[in-house]
Amino acid sequence: MILDPAAPVVVVGASLAGVRAAQALRREGHTGALTVIGAEQHWPPYDRPPLSKQVLTGALDAERARLRLPDGLGVEVVLGRRATGLDLRRGEVTGDDGSSFAFDGLVVATGATPRALPGTGGLAGVHLLRTVDDVARLRAELASATRVAIVGAGFIGCEVASSCRSLGLDVTLVDALDPPLGAVLGATAGGFVRQQLLANGVRLHLGSTVAAVEGAGRARKVVLADGTEIDTDVVVVGIGVTPATEWLEGSGLQLRDGVVCDEACRALGGDGRVVAAGDVARWDHPRYGSLRTEHWTNAGEQAAHAVRALVHGPAVAGPYAPTPYFWSDQFGVKLQFVGIARPGDEVTVAEGSVEEGRFVLAYGRDGVTVGALCVGCPRRLVEWQALVDARAAYPPPVLVP
Ligand SMILES: Cc1cc2nc3c(=O)[nH]c(=O)nc-3n(C[C@H](O)[C@H](O)[C@H](O)COP(=O)(O)OP(=O)(O)OC[C@H]3O[C@@H](n4cnc5c(N)ncnc54)[C@H](O)[C@@H]3O)c2cc1C
Repeated sequence: MILDPAAPVVVVGASLAGVRAAQALRREGHTGALTVIGAEQHWPPYDRPPLSKQVLTGALDAERARLRLPDGLGVEVVLGRRATGLDLRRGEVTGDDGSSFAFDGLVVATGATPRALPGTGGLAGVHLLRTVDDVARLRAELASATRVAIVGAGFIGCEVASSCRSLGLDVTLVDALDPPLGAVLGATAGGFVRQQLLANGVRLHLGSTVAAVEGAGRARKVVLADGTEIDTDVVVVGIGVTPATEWLEGSGLQLRDGVVCDEACRALGGDGRVVAAGDVARWDHPRYGSLRTEHWTNAGEQAAHAVRALVHGPAVAGPYAPTPYFWSDQFGVKLQFVGIARPGDEVTVAEGSVEEGRFVLAYGRDGVTVGALCVGCPRRLVEWQALVDARAAYPPPVLVP
């Protein structure tokens, strides 16, 4: 161990990456004081993926979305406290009430903050969706609404559209890009997502930008740049997130769209005493280069790896080299992506049929299979994951004739 097992460790961020880091620390033999500081008030923390899905529709009570934690973790949890500064020389994190937390090892797990739509600050009826409190506020307003306008057709926007349609609401979705998710998954997958939205009665304004959200104190209308006016009762904004690094400004850690880390997830500038994990971490992936992901699976896996690097050092932990994975549920269909898709990748329908809504798309670059999207066929994922992991030749073999 390079970290004294009895030394104090602080984890900032009491959500998925934060709790998985705390669990990993105990697993790796850390016995000293362990403090988890979180800006939210929820412990055990809750899981975010159900928020835009079953919690929004009411199919799952928010209480049941809590993460499970083992008994006897021996953690001091400080909730409702935002870290505002880091003094590396003194080994101290400062809280927003002036409190300070001394550490020998620090895990940064502050995740990401949703971007607001400019000009909507202070306007009632405009919602972001990141926290369980956000979803409670949104659900309360949807109860008396008939129309919802969603700005941003990314994963959150499409999932909210799906949930709102299942609640019987009139849904309009606006995005600058066409097809939706095309920038992430390519034109074929984007075309499928667009078709699903249309088939499920979502009104689409794609290739459109929002000029203003209007209303006297409360949002009543979304005005597009081409002059189109969308009357609405509620506006949901899903236009991406920003890594929560503001509290680290000036600390000496390298920040660039996240906390910049080495291959083992140790923060650059942190002298080996600071690691980062989850949505906030940008690390040097041995295969993909500088990478930051916003996926559930990564948050837990990266936390475990980062803790190994903190406790045992990078030589023992080795490089963190996962094959990225994420999923999304929309209109009863599961989309699962493994690997990394980049603009210009070749894409082929490797299995099934896009029209029938059950298919696998294979993504290729320079003769290598770099990604696969499984739609409506979760059982096919494992085999495709193995192909992507193995960097199989592209086009891939015909697996299911
Ligand atoms: C609605 C929704 C649906 C999603 N669905 C999917 C899905 O279907 N599939 C998928 O793969 N991923 C999904 N994700 C993404 C996934 O939930 C995230 O990747 C994951 O939550 C990241 O975990 P994290 O711990 O890194 O960050 P977060 O979950 O963002 O947690 C960070 C925590 O740190 C706290 N914090 C921030 N700054 C400070 C500070 N200065 N001091 C103290 N505390 C601070 C925050 O309040 C927060 O509680 C979804 C996300 C959302 C919001």
